[in-house]
Amino acid sequence: MSAARLESPRISVIAPVYNERTNLDALVTELIAALASHPHEIILVNDGSTDGSGAVLDTLAVQLPGVVIAVHLSRNFGMEPAISAGLDQATGDVVVVLDADLQDDPAAFDAFLSEWRGGADVVYAVRSSREESWLRRILFWTFYRVLGWIANVDLPRDASNFALMDRRVVDTLRALPERNRFHRGLRAWAGFRQVGVPVARRKRAQGATRLGLRGQWKLAMNAIFAFSYVPLFLFRFAGAVSLLLSAGLIVWALYYKLVVGLDIRAWASQLITTSFFGGINLLGIGVIGEYVARIHDEVKGRPNYVVHRVTRGGEGN
Ligand code: UDP
Ligand code: MG
Repeated sequence: MSAARLESPRISVIAPVYNERTNLDALVTELIAALASHPHEIILVNDGSTDGSGAVLDTLAVQLPGVVIAVHLSRNFGMEPAISAGLDQATGDVVVVLDADLQDDPAAFDAFLSEWRGGADVVYAVRSSREESWLRRILFWTFYRVLGWIANVDLPRDASNFALMDRRVVDTLRALPERNRFHRGLRAWAGFRQVGVPVARRKRAQGATRLGLRGQWKLAMNAIFAFSYVPLFLFRFAGAVSLLLSAGLIVWALYYKLVVGLDIRAWASQLITTSFFGGINLLGIGVIGEYVARIHDEVKGRPNYVVHRVTRGGEGN
């Protein structure tokens, strides 16, 4: 049984920030309005922004001591490491992760909290609608289905980063030694009681996507190689099929030579088979390489992120 849930828990809100200068004031204003009836802190992790977001964050932290905490990383590490940095700083009974571009609607906090009070440990937003281009929508749709199908944990479809986590889930994630962190996946892996709540995803308030298709591709690859061995199984399967095929070809060639008494002109079929299996081999090595690179990353044991400084108002930093 979980401990009785507080009516008004302390809420830590975390947002990764990469070049979101023009969104930050509106974000903090919205968050404070949504959090008014609960003790709270807002941790904004500056992921190496180059547009002056850092100065805006410092100003907000000084103006709102005890409310806004600005964590500055030493460079751009990426969204997932920035979220890790936020989780490491958070002190709340519950932690909410959201994007800094106002795509995630703080109006959902009430629904999150009531599920949490009802015993849920992870309450995640399920996109009920997406204000995005059709290309992105198709890619996301396909990605979530493929990942859901091949992943070795039960990953809810269309679940976003936007979620509330109980302290024990946050502590579980923080204790993981894993460096390649796909938080949506790890959050599901943690188990406990998981509940999805439909939330409409708004349009990005200002600016263009910071992750972009390339960033999303990287995230997708991390998710797949961290949560699935299906790419390897596919090559085992391809290997088995090609073995059978070549056995069949040998029998066929021997039959022609010994029974029919004709030599087969082999160069065309040889060319096709060598290039086909050469291709499969290279792809297979590529897939193994993906896993090896990730093992190498884990073995190097470098930290996920480096904090440059933390600004808290009222401390004279
Ligand atoms: N972000 C980050 N580091 C990066 C790229 C993005 O911290 O290198 C942040 C970004 O500021 C935003 C969140 O991650 O708060 C999601 O990024 P974005 O809005 O670009 O993703 P999209 O909504 O396009 O998927
Ligand atoms: Mg966004």
